[in-house]
Amino acid sequence: IDSEDADYLISLVRSIPDFPKAGILFRDFMPVLADARGLKLLIDALIAALPVAADEFDVVAGLEARGFLIGPALAARLGKGFLAVRKAGKLPPETVSEEYTLEYGKAAVEVETTAIKSGDRVLIVDDLIATGGTAKAAADLIERCQGTVAGFSFVMELSGLEGVENLSQYPCSALMIMP
Ligand code: AMP
Repeated sequence: IDSEDADYLISLVRSIPDFPKAGILFRDFMPVLADARGLKLLIDALIAALPVAADEFDVVAGLEARGFLIGPALAARLGKGFLAVRKAGKLPPETVSEEYTLEYGKAAVEVETTAIKSGDRVLIVDDLIATGGTAKAAADLIERCQGTVAGFSFVMELSGLEGVENLSQYPCSALMIMP
């Protein structure tokens, strides 16, 4: 996409101070999805910025919940399948679970035990990377299921949190770097 299209995409992101709690600047990409030109540009841009060639992965995995909004569109465009990486407690057993630490407390991501076949090469997608904790837990989960993490595609990266640095062993791309 050209720079006019890139400016248009960036202009659609809404920034909400103090949500969901004081001190957090929430970056909302829903207006991008709501906009016909914006949605097409978003998928075009993610494909143009893929961190690895499309023939180097078999499946696109989206992280709950906003990764579910881009993963299937991206996967369909590339002729790949889609895998939902769920938050804990949403799936019936048998599941494989990976715990990770939040600022306060713990969270976990899960997939069904049969969701990933040995050797599956997975591209992980989400709307935003902050600390990278969620993304790293998803990568560990996929590897524990004998899958291979081909790389990560994010719409936004929060600068100054070293999120992408925490995933330095993987190819990563982010369309927008947000202060
Ligand atoms: P982290 O695990 O710290 O990289 O956090 C990433 C997850 O939290 C992603 O699923 C994001 O959707 C969400 N998230 C974290 N910070 C923000 C923010 N400032 N605006 C919107 N979403 C956020």
